[in-house]
Amino acid sequence: MTETISEKKQRTAVRPRPAINFDNKFYFDALNQGELAIQKCLECSQLRHPPTPMCPSCHCLDWRPGVMSGRGEVFSFVVMHHPIVPPFEAGYVVAVIELEEGPRVVMNIEGIKAEQVVVGMPVLVSAERMDEDLVLPVARPIGARS
Ligand SMILES: [Zn+2]
Repeated sequence: MTETISEKKQRTAVRPRPAINFDNKFYFDALNQGELAIQKCLECSQLRHPPTPMCPSCHCLDWRPGVMSGRGEVFSFVVMHHPIVPPFEAGYVVAVIELEEGPRVVMNIEGIKAEQVVVGMPVLVSAERMDEDLVLPVARPIGARS
């Protein structure tokens, strides 16, 4: 049987690449090391995400990455059905995860059926390799196996 163009795209497509810049490079470097790191202001200690050059609270330009525990809960989520772009498949979950340290990070939830995801559900975030060049955070319900 001959593979259709759509089938080939589904098989060969890779996830979109993040736009890495001076401010967010630490985030992806940390994920490559298996850690979830968030910017922490050196003046007022506020954690902030997504990465920005300046603290929105005290306007300090100095910060360092702070490694998070990975524990959090579902703050909000959507189930993607349309339009689906390869390599994604209909029914995947995109969630805003509120980390126990406070910041909220957007990522996929895996290891659970979309219809079972609920706001407030406790999750554990881990750095997972998507392909040869890309590691992203993924949330799984606590107790689910990766
Ligand atoms: Zn600050």
